[in-house]
Amino acid sequence: NAKARGRNCLQFFNQQIQKDAERNAELHLYLKTALAQHEFELYYQPIVNPFTSQIIKAEVLLRWIHDGKFISPDEFIPIAEESGLIVQIGEWVRTQALTSILALQQRQLAIPLSINVSTIEFWTADLQQRFLAYFDAIQKQFGLDDFPYSLITLEITESLMMKQQKSINLLLTELRHRGMKISVDDFGTGYSSLSYLVNFPVDQIKIDKSFIQKITSGSRHKALIEAIVSMSRALDLSIVAEGVETQEELEFIKQQDIQAVQGYHFYRPMPQEAFFDLLAKQAQSTSTT
Ligand code: C2E
Ligand code: MG
Ligand code: MG
Ligand code: MG
Repeated sequence: NAKARGRNCLQFFNQQIQKDAERNAELHLYLKTALAQHEFELYYQPIVNPFTSQIIKAEVLLRWIHDGKFISPDEFIPIAEESGLIVQIGEWVRTQALTSILALQQRQLAIPLSINVSTIEFWTADLQQRFLAYFDAIQKQFGLDDFPYSLITLEITESLMMKQQKSINLLLTELRHRGMKISVDDFGTGYSSLSYLVNFPVDQIKIDKSFIQKITSGSRHKALIEAIVSMSRALDLSIVAEGVETQEELEFIKQQDIQAVQGYHFYRPMPQEAFFDLLAKQAQSTSTT
């Protein structure tokens, strides 16, 4: 009967909540030692010019390999954020990305790298201070005369701008002053307000893949992307289309004259060695043609 079914259902949900909580606690425990145990690795996903298929930049994406199994960032980043571990993890990611940039510079293969930054890393005045101080410290530690700021793009999310804090505005201004670019990731999925884009010092937006994936399901979805594109142009922001998987999606993106595309249609995220090889191959083929 209905009552018994309801009871079973409730029991099922309770069990699920219990399981999720256990999984979270377990991941939190292992996350604490993941850095020390060298369980993180950076993957690289090329971003291409859709008209020439040339790789113009790349996004670095964190991978956690625990007990031989990949754990998705969508699962562990929120846990790292709740526990504050994201701050050390973020610094590790930036150091790895910088190391890659320097290695690529030595091979004359350097391209800009995009690095994801958690909102938590800008949460307090102390963390904002730490975020800046990190760059000064690492420059000293690496003994760099000049820091390759112009090859770094920081990807933030709309939730950061929603805080509408003066201090965040100032921090982003300082980061740009040093030569880094600021990109708004997953654009359109948060509670976006156009005024954020006018008031915050940003250079680029990334159209979220959920919009790209709806291109094929009708003209209203296309109109939405067209609106995002014309607004970005009016504000002089560059555009990256994220999550392009099919030829049809690519054609529409090209019709919009979007100059940068990221998605499985071209490349999936890959380990560093494969990425470096790919850039070397591209350099070779462009120098011989
Ligand atoms: P994101 O920054 O929006 O990164 C893009 C995600 O879309 C990546 O997932 C990428 O693998 C995936 N993707 C790219 N092209 C396609 C496509 O054509 N189709 C589909 N279905 N997916 C595509 P990934 O690597 O699993 O990362 C998920 C999220 O985790 C990232 O979303 C980002 O928010 C977060 N994340 C990853 N690395 C870091 C990091 O180093 N620090 C922080 N704070 N967050 C990170
Ligand atoms: Mg991103
Ligand atoms: Mg994104
Ligand atoms: Mg995201």
